Amino acid sequence: MRECYICGSTYCLEQHHVFPASNRKNSEKYGLVVDLCHFCHNESPNGVHFNRENDLKLKREFQQRFEDDHPELSFIEIFGRNYL
Ligand SMILES: [Zn+2]
Ligand SMILES: [Zn+2]
Repeated sequence: MRECYICGSTYCLEQHHVFPASNRKNSEKYGLVVDLCHFCHNESPNGVHFNRENDLKLKREFQQRFEDDHPELSFIEIFGRNYL
């Protein structure tokens, strides 16, 4: 069952690209897309689109996951940034 990646709620789920904008396609390609409930996603003050700390936490976690899953690839080269 789908649930919010942050709080576990199963209501009002929305898809969030962990690395947005120019990296939206890369997020899809490498599975760096999560389900978030509306409040953890797009509501002030805790939603990742409002709360920089929560956003960074997610990005760090998924960069780490990417590096664990793809030791042969360079996250920094592909995504153009380092969040760790
Ligand atoms: Zn949530
Ligand atoms: Zn989003």
